[in-house]
Amino acid sequence: MRRVRSSVRFFDRSMLAVLKWVSDRYLAPLATVIDRSHPPRVAGEERRVRTEAPQPKRGASASRVLERYGGDQILSARRPVWLRPLPDDEAPVCVDAVERTLAGDGTALVLVPEAEPLSATARRLLERFDERAAAFVGGDARERYRTWLEIQAGRFDVVVATRPGVFAPLPRLGLIWICRDAHPAHREERAPYYHVRDVALARAGLQGAACVLASISPSVEVAVAAASSDTGRSMRTARPPRSEERLAAPLVETVPPEAEDRSARLGTLLRQARSAVLLVSRRGYGVARVCRSCGEPAACATCGGTIGVAGGHATCIACRSPGRCARCGGTSFGIERGGTERLAEWAQDLERLGTDLSAAIERLEERQREQLEEVHRRVRQEIEEIALETREHKATVLRFRDEAQRVAKEAIDAATSDLEDVAAQRRQALQEVSDRLGARERELLKRIDREEAEATARMEVKFADVERRQIERLQRSLEHEASRLLEDASREFHKTIRVAQEETARRLARELERAVTDLSSQGERLLRQRT
Ligand SMILES: [Zn+2]
Ligand SMILES: [Zn+2]
Repeated sequence: MRRVRSSVRFFDRSMLAVLKWVSDRYLAPLATVIDRSHPPRVAGEERRVRTEAPQPKRGASASRVLERYGGDQILSARRPVWLRPLPDDEAPVCVDAVERTLAGDGTALVLVPEAEPLSATARRLLERFDERAAAFVGGDARERYRTWLEIQAGRFDVVVATRPGVFAPLPRLGLIWICRDAHPAHREERAPYYHVRDVALARAGLQGAACVLASISPSVEVAVAAASSDTGRSMRTARPPRSEERLAAPLVETVPPEAEDRSARLGTLLRQARSAVLLVSRRGYGVARVCRSCGEPAACATCGGTIGVAGGHATCIACRSPGRCARCGGTSFGIERGGTERLAEWAQDLERLGTDLSAAIERLEERQREQLEEVHRRVRQEIEEIALETREHKATVLRFRDEAQRVAKEAIDAATSDLEDVAAQRRQALQEVSDRLGARERELLKRIDREEAEATARMEVKFADVERRQIERLQRSLEHEASRLLEDASREFHKTIRVAQEETARRLARELERAVTDLSSQGERLLRQRT
């Protein structure tokens, strides 16, 4: 050893183990790894380094976000953890984990992928831990080296750092927290090309710290390690139940393209959403469909390809030459709109419309407020005026009331007497009417009786007459019928007699003939006997 260049010690025994691991893992000379493990030296800073640590702030935060992911258990150093925060938990869960680590007298190293823009988690940590936290991100060489020295001197309990910070010389390291481990910025671009995740896992293992990889979408390496966690080795998974994840996740919807990729549904969703991401499959503002000069379908004059419109220019999608009509060379086209540019324009219109609407509503509210105030003012004024006139009014009102009462009483008396007169007259009239009606009724009854008797008599006479005539007619028809029957009977009788006579005559003739025959045959027999 010829010369000591600096009194600063760039690594201790445990950090050397980490650096050796990196050297082995990435096949890099140890000297290179050591050189990369700290910012370039700025000798001037070494004399001015502040070492006093600020007093830790008391009063633990009430946040218990980590409970949802397994609480203190995930901060035990035994196995690394893949933690999948709900979208709104990403920063709070990290703050909670760091708080708990500090409460256990450890320090915490939080690694974020980018310094610009600094993530919400990083900002939240720096805000929460204020003097106790160091932002080891970017800055000039002097500032970086100073921060590094202060970290080493134990000024900070929390270090928020980008990639090189994975080697930050924090004493009593209790937690390494990696945000979004799948981010490409976690990979070092110079030799030894290390990955923050691998170094962090190795360092946590070697230094006995907990290691948490917090990401909504993990890297392939983490996903595989978490999936094989059943074997009991590699990586634990800490995430809320799937139902909670679903509830906290943004709404993802795919919609069939309607006119220019916009739909009423999409419009409604955009108006309701606090923030939204739109994925559109086509770039630019639209596609040229027809030539405005000659009316032919639009096609590239150079290659016949489709002409697209983006940023106000028509360009062939195939050969990138300026869009000119293949037939007439025209450059004005009828455009079928649709694509990212058009949709962005539409979304802006939508937003402007929303803003205009809110502005209009605000103006309306303002005017309403003014009018209300005006009304209130007038009402107050009138109340005052009324108060002034009240006494006068009271007297007048009293006078009016007495007068009204007197008039009313007179009117009621007059009306009552009138009413009595009218009632008496009515009673008398009713009596007369009822008398007259009685007499009339009696008279009518008598007349009805008389007319009834007359009618009965008349009807009896009429009935007798009818009866007599009917009997006569009946008799006549009976006689007629009887004589007809008699004639028929005698005719039938004569016919029967004649038939019987003829029959008898025929029978007698036959018997006579037989007798004659018998006689003659007897005669012949007798004759023969005699002879
Ligand atoms: Zn044309
Ligand atoms: Zn072309």
